[in-house]
Amino acid sequence: MRFSELVGNTELRQQLVRMVRAGRLGHAILFVEENGGGGFAFALALAQFVNCREQQEDDSCGVCPSCHKYQKLIHPDLHFVFPVSSSSQLSESEKKAPLSDYFLPAFRELALANPYFTEQELYDSIGIENKSGLISVHESRRIFEKLSLRAAEGEWKTMLIYLPEKMNLDAANKLLKLLEEPPAGTLFLLVSHQPERLLPTIRSRCQAIALKPLSREERRLIAGGRDSDNAEYREIAKSLLEAGLAKHIIDTFPQWEMLADLGREKQREWCLYMEQYIRKIYLVARGLDALADLSETEEATIRGFAARIKPSFYEKAFTAVEAALSAVGSNVNPKLTFCDLSNRLLLAL
Ligand SMILES: [Zn+2]
Repeated sequence: MRFSELVGNTELRQQLVRMVRAGRLGHAILFVEENGGGGFAFALALAQFVNCREQQEDDSCGVCPSCHKYQKLIHPDLHFVFPVSSSSQLSESEKKAPLSDYFLPAFRELALANPYFTEQELYDSIGIENKSGLISVHESRRIFEKLSLRAAEGEWKTMLIYLPEKMNLDAANKLLKLLEEPPAGTLFLLVSHQPERLLPTIRSRCQAIALKPLSREERRLIAGGRDSDNAEYREIAKSLLEAGLAKHIIDTFPQWEMLADLGREKQREWCLYMEQYIRKIYLVARGLDALADLSETEEATIRGFAARIKPSFYEKAFTAVEAALSAVGSNVNPKLTFCDLSNRLLLAL
């Protein structure tokens, strides 16, 4: 991941580059993020930058052999640690002392598709949905073993620890030892949601960097980048509004049932998409077509809605979608969430 691919926190990117250039980067950085706020993506971009063989003035090159492996998350000097638990994906012996390494294929898949993942998305992807992950003392021993080896290729060995606050006390004490006497050429990158839960002695060994929460527009950019062809989302949005305008409540059922089955990440994306969809209709209705930036596939439908929807709809619709978005984030039953959203849209139309 290059700095230029990151979304949000532009000043922070420049600050990190200046720190590296001036040799002021410590051996342990603690990124503090809001859940899903991009700390992991920042840590990756920083690791790629310090290891890049053809560093540009303010970014990694993206094409040298090191960047190439960092971008696929397969560089032999890039190590990941994250909270895990026993999962049906593991063998019987692995279940006894689960380690991050056992989940690497699923973790890579998640992080490549969505480096802005949340804690829950991590648990969903490694199949421990209903349990809380933990970083055990076995994992700390493994960290120790890995870091006692020489760097295979890069100048730096990078140990990226996602949610170090999930370490139990034994594990945390072992990490502390490593931070106190870091093996040569090791860069620790910690990404935390609750730094107050870390041992104060660990915190004090790290350079803390707080990420600003992403704006709604930035979240939209991230969701949009992952799903440029929104045909499925568009179809649901369109059908919900059609059924609402016709006051055919029964025609909304298949739509909200489909939404309830999507999985949480896609539900969140759809909500952001829906907000954008309604915003486009609003802009066209106000005669601000240029701002709506309509694509060919949606133009006729959006214009049709703009002509038929009453002005009082928009505010109520935005409030309803925001409520759904927040319900998705807090684990409310998805059927209730999307049934409620459909009803509110229908009543507002
Ligand atoms: Zn490079």
